[in-house]
Amino acid sequence: MATGGVGRAGAATSGGSAARITVDLGAVADNTRTLAARARGAVMAVVKADGFGHGAIGVARAALGAGATWLGVTGLGEALALRAAGLDGPMLSWLNPPGADFPAAVGQRVDLAVPSLAHLAAMPRGARIHLHLDTGMARDGATAGEWVALCRAAREAELGGRVTVVGVMSHLAGPDTPAALRRFRAGLEIAYAMGLRPRVRHLAATAATLTAPETHFDLVRTGAGLVGIDPSGTTALRGAMTLTAPVVEVRRVAAGTPVGYDHTWRAPRDTTLALLPVGYADGLPRSAGPRGEVLLGGRRCRIAGRISMDQVVVDTGPGDGARIGDIAVVFGPGDGGEPTVTEWAGWAGTLPHEIVTGLGNRPHRHVVGGN
Ligand SMILES: *Cc1c(COP(=O)(O)O)cnc(C)c1O
Repeated sequence: MATGGVGRAGAATSGGSAARITVDLGAVADNTRTLAARARGAVMAVVKADGFGHGAIGVARAALGAGATWLGVTGLGEALALRAAGLDGPMLSWLNPPGADFPAAVGQRVDLAVPSLAHLAAMPRGARIHLHLDTGMARDGATAGEWVALCRAAREAELGGRVTVVGVMSHLAGPDTPAALRRFRAGLEIAYAMGLRPRVRHLAATAATLTAPETHFDLVRTGAGLVGIDPSGTTALRGAMTLTAPVVEVRRVAAGTPVGYDHTWRAPRDTTLALLPVGYADGLPRSAGPRGEVLLGGRRCRIAGRISMDQVVVDTGPGDGARIGDIAVVFGPGDGGEPTVTEWAGWAGTLPHEIVTGLGNRPHRHVVGGN
């Protein structure tokens, strides 16, 4: 916050004084409509990790206004925060230790995933549960070996009036969806054989929502897609986040001038450098340094040298270059020629998910397109 607002108020006409994140909830609504049109069943808006860094409450409201009917989060704390913000309706939390405050979940009508007998034993009276089966990730969910016992115990708890088994869920690893789908169907058969009648069967996340309709069952759980990330690379979704930064210094340098920490970059010719107040503490991946670009003055400009904690230098070329106060677009939806989050992820050798969830809290945040 210390970088914001004060020192360079004179630059207000060119867009402010610090790095700024703009979240476009209109894009979230559009993406939700695209996903809902593909889904055979209902759509859960997964707003874990603060709505993939876009603000959980805003993303949730936008998605619910555009066709989603469920909300999903990882931990119970995230769910209770959404309830406290007034978000009603079906909601699921799927990753909690058996000692979590499950009575609060019951009190706030938050459904809970149950991946083990220990979790089932911890469910208070009135819990609405989704039995979680591992279909091939070996990450979370009950193993095939535990599944029969879990279904039997859940049915007993249901007959005893303690829990309601609302759903059966699993999650796809990506590769070999057909094998996971077979395991999911086999798990459902066991649940039915035990007398369970789960109304909400759910397996697909964004990629399978867009590419594998046979995995949709009653509900799809979409997170990345809401904010414009398409892991399947098949569908035009709109990036919901734009990161900009103003030019705070400009300098002319001669060919051969070394720039930044460790002198990893030297000016290939006489050129102009512009300094932006955004760095890896704000979430710019340092590893993107050698390849990264921003849009400045209508042109793509390469990063010059290392990305620092709080700042980065870009090479604006031998021409007139940038002026102090000009606004660089670090990433955005891409329609103005700016890099996308997916391009940044490629430069950094990571996923767009990691970039948008890794932004610091220093950039000023603005939300547009809400209702
Ligand atoms: C994060 C997550 C999702 C959403 O996945 P996307 O690919 O972002 O749509 C769905 N289900 C589970 C269990 C998750 O952890």
